[in-house]
Amino acid sequence: MEENSAKGNIEALAEILRNSGRIVFFTGAGVSTESGIPDFRSADGIYNQKIGRTVSPEEMISHSYYVRYPAEFFDFYKEKLIYPDASPNAAHRAMAALEKMDKVRGVVTQNIDGLHQKAGSEKVYELHGSVLRNYCEKCGKFFGVETVLETPEHGVPACSCGGRIKPDVVLYEEALDDRVVSGAVRAITEADTLVIGGTSLVVYPAAGLIRYFRGKKLVLINQSVTQADSEADLIVRGKIGEVMKEVMTLLNS
Ligand code: NAD
Repeated sequence: MEENSAKGNIEALAEILRNSGRIVFFTGAGVSTESGIPDFRSADGIYNQKIGRTVSPEEMISHSYYVRYPAEFFDFYKEKLIYPDASPNAAHRAMAALEKMDKVRGVVTQNIDGLHQKAGSEKVYELHGSVLRNYCEKCGKFFGVETVLETPEHGVPACSCGGRIKPDVVLYEEALDDRVVSGAVRAITEADTLVIGGTSLVVYPAAGLIRYFRGKKLVLINQSVTQADSEADLIVRGKIGEVMKEVMTLLNS
């Protein structure tokens, strides 16, 4: 296993991607920090911010909290988890560009911000859903993110049928969508290269899906150590947007 953040590793990554035809990216919140969206566990992540509440962030975005205290849930959710003005960064763009080059089987993401699709990725498996989709719990009608954002403070978004509108996001205590998981598992199983980026790999069951990888090269691009480091063929320590930008320059030269 190679590890250093120097140019050599970026060249090694470019070489791996050049020789791969079935790449899968497995991404987490760290992919979007360079777009201005905080992750959960970095020093300036949401779990380390003073949130001015006595309840932990994990509890606030749990299913039971959503059911019992919907107004408090939506205040926190709108403040900390929705970033309507965020744009994709070089990492999202690189993954989309590699898909256009027909080298990518899919992007399996834990993110809920929709930035992979905004960058142009089409084969995206959103394990934890998306803040951009919301639905009425009673009649099933779908709503965009504006409906949630336009709900006044301390309010709970409601449908004209009287039902409560829930974000299509997997909260703690909720199960993942079976169809999304099976698509993600298929993509990971068929991949020749798995690039894991910007994730602490501590949120289960999502993190467990990387166990389905049977291909040749496992690459990690992350700022901090993860449980998969010991199995990686290549580790690149650095900001994933900066890393992927350099990689694409090498691939396009
Ligand atoms: P996490 O906060 O647990 O871990 C983020 C990881 O990314 C850390 O290991 C950190 O060192 C690394 N990192 C941060 N910025 C990076 C960068 N620029 N380049 C490379 N690495 C970087 O996030 P997680 O593992 O995704 O798990 C948290 C859960 O939070 C997920 O389920 C996800 O749904 C949710 N979440 C999503 C968003 C989003 O959609 N953007 C934001 C916050 C949390």
